Amino acid sequence: KPRLLDDGEGGVLFFSSSYSSSSSGFGFSSTEKQRQRLPVYKYRTAILYLVETHATTIIVGETGSGKTTQIPQFLKEAGWADGGRVIACTQPRRLAVQAVASRVAEEMGVKLGEEVGYTIRFEDLTNPDVTRVKFLTDGVLLREMMDDPLLTKYSVIMVDEAHERSISTDMLLGLLKKIQRRRPDLRLIISSATIEAKSMSTFFQMSKRRRGLEGETLEPKVEPAILSVEGRGFNVQIFYLEEPVSDYVQSAVSTVLSIHEQEPPGDILVFLTGQDDIDAAVQLLIEEGQNDRKKSELIVLPLYSGLSRAEQDLIFSPTPRGKRKVVISTNIAETSLTLEGIVYVIDSGFSKQRFYNPITDIESLIVAPISKASARQRTGRAGRIRPGKCYRLYTEEYFINEMPAEGIPEMQRSNLVTCVIQLKALGIDNILGFDWPSPPSPEVMVRALEVLYSLGVLDDDAKLTSPIGFQVAEIPLEPMISKMILASGELGCSEEIMTIAAVLSIQSIWASSRGAQKELDEARLRFAAAEGDHVTFLNVYKGFLQSNKSSQWCHKNFINYQAMKKVMEVREQLRRIAQRLGIIMKSCERDTTAIRKAVTAGFFANACQIEAYSHNGMYKTVRGSQEVYIHPSSVLFRVNPKWVVYHSLVSTDRQYMRNVVTIDPGWLTEVAPHFYQQRQLSHMPH
Ligand code: ADP
Ligand code: MG
Repeated sequence: KPRLLDDGEGGVLFFSSSYSSSSSGFGFSSTEKQRQRLPVYKYRTAILYLVETHATTIIVGETGSGKTTQIPQFLKEAGWADGGRVIACTQPRRLAVQAVASRVAEEMGVKLGEEVGYTIRFEDLTNPDVTRVKFLTDGVLLREMMDDPLLTKYSVIMVDEAHERSISTDMLLGLLKKIQRRRPDLRLIISSATIEAKSMSTFFQMSKRRRGLEGETLEPKVEPAILSVEGRGFNVQIFYLEEPVSDYVQSAVSTVLSIHEQEPPGDILVFLTGQDDIDAAVQLLIEEGQNDRKKSELIVLPLYSGLSRAEQDLIFSPTPRGKRKVVISTNIAETSLTLEGIVYVIDSGFSKQRFYNPITDIESLIVAPISKASARQRTGRAGRIRPGKCYRLYTEEYFINEMPAEGIPEMQRSNLVTCVIQLKALGIDNILGFDWPSPPSPEVMVRALEVLYSLGVLDDDAKLTSPIGFQVAEIPLEPMISKMILASGELGCSEEIMTIAAVLSIQSIWASSRGAQKELDEARLRFAAAEGDHVTFLNVYKGFLQSNKSSQWCHKNFINYQAMKKVMEVREQLRRIAQRLGIIMKSCERDTTAIRKAVTAGFFANACQIEAYSHNGMYKTVRGSQEVYIHPSSVLFRVNPKWVVYHSLVSTDRQYMRNVVTIDPGWLTEVAPHFYQQRQLSHMPH
């Protein structure tokens, strides 16, 4: 992506990846010296001793102190990977898994994918014969439990970033606690930036009575050990706004420019919420730099999941002399990744969060205020190499009086359909009685059971059905997509649905418009199908194949080439899974009825009907009569067909449906008779 690096004078800068860090004050010291300078290094012996003698060790340490990159190496050096055993380190985020694994491989001087490897969904860079240190998402480790319930190949499992409290982390903690009872040899490390170490410790305390009953003798101590690694952050001066702002993107951009104008050298890290606002800010800053010599010293880089390897490398490359790096990030840079060289932080005060309402059964992504704990973490990122400054784009009064102290665990603000089916597949029958670090509400559980029942995944006794339930659980996608895939086998459109499922599993196949919204919309229209976005994806995929998978073709048509390559990979893996499950691969030759029916078989719960008297494209969900609108990025925006199902909702000023397809309402009772009783639909004109 040379345009991101345009130095304003027509030249393009290149960084060599073997360049060792010099701008961060380390000089040209060896990797080993760099390792020794990290705060955890001093605790090496203590950590190894605690892990040796305790079943569970809780390690709390400031971001950047070396927990993620060093502890797995300490364990390896101490022999925990001898005899074919494997050390695992989980992360909630895919991008963090990749970045950290590649760093550790580099530090150990080995090729990534051999001794050190990583696995994220649809991407496995490990070699079972030689990989001894394995980084993976917590979701992938949960999946591994389906084949190996006691995770026997691992000697130590480090559950990292536990303070994030992602659904998968919480599930993992609950399940690992069970596994520990059966595997006294297993060691757990729970590590995080700011965890409530006490409550985590209480959670992992083993009940003595229970141990007695099962007749096991545990060699390691049952009481978890807690170790706190002191950080070495510098002071950070905090600035607040006098008045709240309405447009935080604009405000962030002007703050970057004024820092660059007035402050001494040092890189800037900006926290926004997602790809849309990050791309918008990047675009604004690049435009600013085009005609202004001073501003052209800025190297502006986005940071969000889905970046290519080359883009990731740029983020970690040292800033060239005379330049200033500006990284515009989601909250991935809050604790998962540490960038050296940051002196200034700009905090929008927001992040994208999942929210779920069990009454309306609606889950959506919302740009919502962060917690005080998050704000402090973000601020801390400015004090890595010397005293820094943090600009909070909100008022002090707001911070003190309105910002919540802590975030709510994802488990308590999400739809739990995926979580429930995974537990069922792991043989946990009593879902309501499961030992959670923070239990979700029973209503949400019941909602999830209800949806799984109508998908045909659970039977009357809330057990997985055979074969559908087991098959759905086997496919590493949300159950609704898995159900859609199974239905496609029967409807004779599995070739098409595989493509659609692959596209839906990645963020977006469209190139980011970066100020060229009109051209992007026109490009999209070239592929648009009257039936909706899902069918449109098929047109794009076909065009891509016909172009011989050309990157030029993608560029011309505003399609993200990296994303299309990923679609090909995911599709191939889905095909393999489908084959294993005995789904017959067949094309429906453009019979879009079969395709849309298959989509409905998975997503019937997301059916909506347009409001007859509304002139602004308002829809209501059939289930909960909630107001929703078609997202402007959909090919059906302004077309407003009568009946649709959507794939997901995003919420800004309104609830917007992303990825929408037209349906015949008659299909709803056909594919989900229990969910939609005839009575519910009969008063609605077809
Ligand atoms: P923690 O897990 O405690 O937050 P890390 O182990 O992630 O700390 O980071 C330790 C050091 O390694 C930091 O100085 C960080 O900048 C560096 N580091 C981590 N990942 C990378 C990477 N992919 N490239 C370059 N440096 C990295
Ligand atoms: Mg870490």
